[in-house]
Amino acid sequence: MRSFLLGCMACLLAIALQAQPARDYVILVHGGAGAMAGLEDRAEQAAAYYASLDSALHIGAAILEEGGKGETAVIAVLRYFESNPLFNAGVGATCTATGTFELDASIMRGQDLSAGAVAGVKHVKHPIEAAYSVMTQSPHVMMAGEGAEQFARSQGLEMVDDNLFFATPKTLKWVEELKRESKKNGTVGCVVLDKAGNLTAGTSTGGMFKKQWGRVGDSPIIGAGTYADNESCAVSCTGHGEYFIRHAVAHTLCARYKFLKEPIEKAADHILFEELNAEAGNGGLIAVDKDGHFAMPFNSGGMFRGYLYKEKGSSKTVSQVGIGKKLR
Ligand code: ASP
Repeated sequence: MRSFLLGCMACLLAIALQAQPARDYVILVHGGAGAMAGLEDRAEQAAAYYASLDSALHIGAAILEEGGKGETAVIAVLRYFESNPLFNAGVGATCTATGTFELDASIMRGQDLSAGAVAGVKHVKHPIEAAYSVMTQSPHVMMAGEGAEQFARSQGLEMVDDNLFFATPKTLKWVEELKRESKKNGTVGCVVLDKAGNLTAGTSTGGMFKKQWGRVGDSPIIGAGTYADNESCAVSCTGHGEYFIRHAVAHTLCARYKFLKEPIEKAADHILFEELNAEAGNGGLIAVDKDGHFAMPFNSGGMFRGYLYKEKGSSKTVSQVGIGKKLR
């Protein structure tokens, strides 16, 4: 009887240990996907992106290390990217065909599936904060345009009077020319598994270059550009939004993981390489599962991305950033 009980206890312990994420925390970031021809070889330009991705990872990791919540880390990281002119979010965002800046952002908490998003905001300094306010301070999931701005103002968020606040010398040139086909910087995203085992995902963007004003892409759409569910994964996408919406990419990945029991890499590859047409549905994604396994595939020329994690029981973090197939 005694050995039977001991056996049962050992079994329960094994199950409990298995259920624990093997990683203390994980943070992944992306700074957009695209053609990026030869960027890896332009050392100075590439170094600026590597440094920014690295800073973003460490901003998030500092919060996670202290036991901070995943959503706190995601917001801090995306705020940083929204202030960094290298990326297509906040300052540095790409412009519409009429030369305006219309920003989208979303965030999702895997613990209770709560989510918030804003679309087409033109005067909110940090769209990711507005998305978070929609999630935490309103009964809604998504707000758009003027209504979203009025809501952000009522929440005391930082606003900017002039839409050109989001312009940089580079994007101003696009506004003037509106012909250049080099198109954009990169959308930004962050997914996190925190120490408490909770998953969070967030995405922020200026959208696609020369988009029709009023157009909304996948980034603020829960299930398309962003999704998090503690029973599966946290996902943030970047790429040609219309395709990511049609394929509900972020949610489909989570569903494949949860219901088909596919490992995260397999689920991510299936969507990117088998479901999305590589020519038209160009882009990539970052995804982390509830056990801390992750995937960061892309079907475009490159994708700015990076990861940082800490194994349970270890005092060291492991991190890498990169643009092309190989991370450095
Ligand atoms: N997915 C974004 C959009 O379609 C753009 C991007 O990721 O570059 O708005």
